[in-house]
Amino acid sequence: MFFTEVSVVWALLIVASAVFALYLSAYSLFRRQVSGAVEFSLFMFTVAMYSLGYAFEMNAHTLERIIDFLRFQFIWTSFTAPVFLLFVLRFILQDKIPGPVYLLLFLIPMIIAVMGLTIDSHRLIYRSYSLVQGEYFPVIKYEGGPWYVIQQIYLIGTSIIAEVLLLIHIFRVRGKIQKQSILILIASVMPTVNAMIQPGRTVHSNLDLQPFVMVLMGILLSIALFRFQMLDLVRAARWMAVDSIHDYLVILDREGIVQDINHAGRNSRLLEDLRIGSHFYGNCDFSRFVEEGSFLDYAGEHKNVQRFDWKEKSYKFTVSKVFDWKGDITGYALLINENTELVKLLDELERQAIVDELTSMFNRRQLINLADREIEIARRDESSMGIIILDLDHFKHINDSYGHLTGDKVLRAVSACIRERLRPSEISGRYGGEEFCIICPHSNGTETLAIAERLRTAIEKLRIDIDLGGKTIGVTASFGVYATGDLHNSGTEDLLKNADLALYHAKENGRNQSVLWTAQVTAPSPDTPLIK
Ligand code: GH3
Ligand code: MG
Ligand code: MG
Repeated sequence: MFFTEVSVVWALLIVASAVFALYLSAYSLFRRQVSGAVEFSLFMFTVAMYSLGYAFEMNAHTLERIIDFLRFQFIWTSFTAPVFLLFVLRFILQDKIPGPVYLLLFLIPMIIAVMGLTIDSHRLIYRSYSLVQGEYFPVIKYEGGPWYVIQQIYLIGTSIIAEVLLLIHIFRVRGKIQKQSILILIASVMPTVNAMIQPGRTVHSNLDLQPFVMVLMGILLSIALFRFQMLDLVRAARWMAVDSIHDYLVILDREGIVQDINHAGRNSRLLEDLRIGSHFYGNCDFSRFVEEGSFLDYAGEHKNVQRFDWKEKSYKFTVSKVFDWKGDITGYALLINENTELVKLLDELERQAIVDELTSMFNRRQLINLADREIEIARRDESSMGIIILDLDHFKHINDSYGHLTGDKVLRAVSACIRERLRPSEISGRYGGEEFCIICPHSNGTETLAIAERLRTAIEKLRIDIDLGGKTIGVTASFGVYATGDLHNSGTEDLLKNADLALYHAKENGRNQSVLWTAQVTAPSPDTPLIK
């Protein structure tokens, strides 16, 4: 009777420690965002299962029942060591472990588990076994087979690898992480030391301390993992880094409730109305730029970049999905970057690429691009289009007489004069040195010629102050005009070429006049219609 009581009390203690191990397993599973916590949880689970198996085995009194519980223990004990090694790897590397490593580590335990389950149908683990009366309860007496040896080597091997890795780590790290590593190392040698000072059940000690030692080990590990908060420290460090950046970071949960805002975001005018715990939509100006419910679209495989302007500042933002350990979306991270200066710079670059510096008119390249576009539209609309090239007369003379700066001033005055007299639909630009070009959509020859004449007389009347005691000078220009309704057969180049031919005739015929090059006239001839 006494024997049974001892075994029951001992078993109850072991069940209690197994429950505690389960508690640790669940606790760390709830804190699985800590790297290594999942592995630790698994480890504690295997310890709990093994302990429970042992407690039941202790109270089984027939060989068959004992073997049944041994089977159960085999499943878990074979995984305890590799799971612990995985935990150590996660702890040291602070990163995901590649899949093949798992496979490699679990291969032998899986074989052993299968052999353990079928322990009574082969002699690979136990060469022979029998039931003998122990000090307090019946125990199994056995002779280990080849896979028993493999199992032992594997267990000892993985433990030694874990311990060596920890030892190396201790010398490589400092501070809290070092203390934590030492704690984990102490915990990891505990079962080995226990096995050495208290020979295990292999030599039939009746009361095995190992389940308690394993739970004690779990306690030490959980202190290392959670009390020291080394891994939380990493998270804290990450968040500190996030707080030190100039970009704004907003974390939303799946429902769009604000979970966190970094320092820069909290102090920005853009996000000042946003509160942690409140809904993102409708609570800050920025949310106006993010279409409600569109996060799924924004946060694609490739982080999508959106732009918007707000209160004279430019911003861009990217949305990234946040996944949990199962790969499900748990929320969104919005990274907002104020890039006013960059946008200004890009705008300026873009402007410089299309605008002439001296006159602020479109440059030749842009004129050609716009002409191409207008021709496309005219083709679609079946409408006509006119083009004018004008060239200042004897401009060289102005430069020679009054200097280059005065020449520039004249160019600016002429360009302003042209722009003032054009309708919004008409496009003007500086075509060359002292040549300008005007694109006249929806205009036939007569209409384009009228525009040219309007400009020619305006330029003729222009008086330009040349900073010489109030002295003013005038300038005239010659106009080459071309228009066509058949844009399917001509492009920008043809239009410019014909307008240029007309200009040539305008110069030839005495300057300060507009010449319309009609579609019928295909070659320059002296009797080209001239209008002055
Ligand atoms: P024409 O009536 O035959 O056109 O005579 P022109 O003197 O205007 O003819 P030409 O094309 O030979 O001369 C154009 C001059 O325009 C030559 C060049 O020095 C001057 N020019 C071109 N670009 C600029 C500029 O940006 N500023 C100034 N000041 N002069 C320019
Ligand atoms: Mg000229
Ligand atoms: Mg010229």
